[in-house]
Amino acid sequence: MQNRTDIKQSQNWVIKIGSALLTNDGQGLDVAAIQAWVEQMFALREAGIQITLVSSGAVAEGMQRLGLTSRPHAVHELQAAAAVGQMGLVQCYESAFQKHGIHTAQILLTHEDTANRERYINARSTLRTLHEMNVIPVVNENDTVVTDEIRFGDNDSLAALVANLVDADLLVILTDQEGLFDADPRSNSDAKLIQQGDANDESLMALAGEGSALGRGGMLTKLRAARLAAGSGTSTVIASGRRASVLQEIYAGEAVGTLLTASTEILTARKQWLAGQINLHGTLHLDAGAVKKVCEQGSSLLAVGVAAVDGSFNRGEIIRCVDDSGREVARGLINYNADETRRIMGQSSEHIEELLGYVGEAELIHRDNLVLS
Ligand code: GLU
Repeated sequence: MQNRTDIKQSQNWVIKIGSALLTNDGQGLDVAAIQAWVEQMFALREAGIQITLVSSGAVAEGMQRLGLTSRPHAVHELQAAAAVGQMGLVQCYESAFQKHGIHTAQILLTHEDTANRERYINARSTLRTLHEMNVIPVVNENDTVVTDEIRFGDNDSLAALVANLVDADLLVILTDQEGLFDADPRSNSDAKLIQQGDANDESLMALAGEGSALGRGGMLTKLRAARLAAGSGTSTVIASGRRASVLQEIYAGEAVGTLLTASTEILTARKQWLAGQINLHGTLHLDAGAVKKVCEQGSSLLAVGVAAVDGSFNRGEIIRCVDDSGREVARGLINYNADETRRIMGQSSEHIEELLGYVGEAELIHRDNLVLS
């Protein structure tokens, strides 16, 4: 993505809403504001945009439900409050989207879930399936088992990882400020909003540096998230969630907030990442039909097209695909482990269930997780 006008072409957004906005600075959930964002998201969906929501706000809602007047200090109490509040959070989104006939789904993730190959591919598959079912996933950090956000306000970087999971072309971080400024707008009335920059520009990092960081979940974590997202080809807009039609303005290419562009395209970024992996865990020997389908038609790889399997690997690991002369034609993330792959190779996908006793994905390697060599 080069500039604002490209946003009109985007189709796949991750929208992150932070606690300060959702709870109007620490009260319980601001239900009216949530309903207004849901209206905007619904309009985007009607325009054909796939939406994944990343939402904080569980701790604040939990405090309200538990009648706590001040934020607990002990991390385990914050975790407990988050567990209570998460119920309110999902209830609120579900009923707001229900008014438009749309279901939501709760996804609680940790950073480790995306670092572990098997969990990564599980999360990716579930999110893809939810989108196919027209459901809006609502993601938060799994505060029961990790405390990154509770400690560092870091749902921003989780949102960047989610952008990678769903191959988003745009990450929108809604916050309580207009965007990134060239000086602290609270103490400097000349501070100017930066309308656009490269997500990897070091000088932007310096502007948001520790000294001027706006506390937990401040601009620094947002810039880091934008940089992380850019690594997998996603551009980011940081904008104020308090603007009445902020999502529509962004979609219309208006100069709201700060656009931080990714210089590589999603597919290129993904290809570079897969191509750069040196630890390939196994090899699939494809028959001529499968080589043709994968290489010429951009299809997913099915078990029926595999003639032999080398190596030992787990679900989610990176596998080389070779033709009958042994030349690498593609590589990708495999949906079955080596033993299962040997049992289903050469068979059509409808036999997977009877051969393995369960069925995972119909594809051995989904085309989204496959790049040609
Ligand atoms: N993920 C948590 C939430 O949704 C943490 C936010 C916080 O520490 O306030 O509330």
